Amino acid sequence: MNIDPKTLIEAVAATISAHVEELTALDSAIGDGDHGLNMKRGFDAVIADLSVIAAKPLPDAVRTVGTVLVMKVGGASGPLYGTLFMTFGKEVPADPSIADVAKALKSAVAAVKQRGKADFGNKTMLDVLGPVADLLSDGDASPAAVRAKAKVCAEATVPMKAVRGRASFLGERSIGHMDPGARSSELMIAAICDVIEGRA
Ligand code: ADP
Ligand code: MG
Repeated sequence: MNIDPKTLIEAVAATISAHVEELTALDSAIGDGDHGLNMKRGFDAVIADLSVIAAKPLPDAVRTVGTVLVMKVGGASGPLYGTLFMTFGKEVPADPSIADVAKALKSAVAAVKQRGKADFGNKTMLDVLGPVADLLSDGDASPAAVRAKAKVCAEATVPMKAVRGRASFLGERSIGHMDPGARSSELMIAAICDVIEGRA
């Protein structure tokens, strides 16, 4: 898989930018309404430095995105997405196969779990990232299948009760809303699938 880091980063940043209001609305329902702006601030900073970041080999580029997200996103999601990207960048080779991507994503998901002391089913980004990592590990998943998996898993957070993050303060009242971080993970995964399919 020969993917240009610049195209990849631009696609992810563009989808975050296009969905700021939706992410804000989701986080207003069960959090403090800042997830859209947090993510946009992070990816705006990435785009501001894109020529430098995208000139790096894929692993270094992804790692640098992670460090920018840690510095700029803030909230709970900044350090967690930062950990995801930094660990992924550390594990992924420069010209990865699907198996390499799956392995790197598994490690990155494990690092996020540890960092946030969270597990699957807690109504977080992990409920999208984990199943997608599993699907990729199975082998021959198409971009369409990965995109569909991410969508179904984000939707599956709606009936969950949050037990981690700000939404957990609501207890039962967190039920009935999609987790904002699950949705932002879905959006980023869909954008990456578009690039791999040559749509973006
Ligand atoms: P904050 O909750 O600090 O306002 P954001 O609104 O940017 O931060 O991000 C909220 C998202 O972060 C949640 O929707 C959830 O997906 C994710 N999140 C929060 N806490 C955790 C955790 N411990 N583990 C994994 N993800 C988490
Ligand atoms: Mg928030």
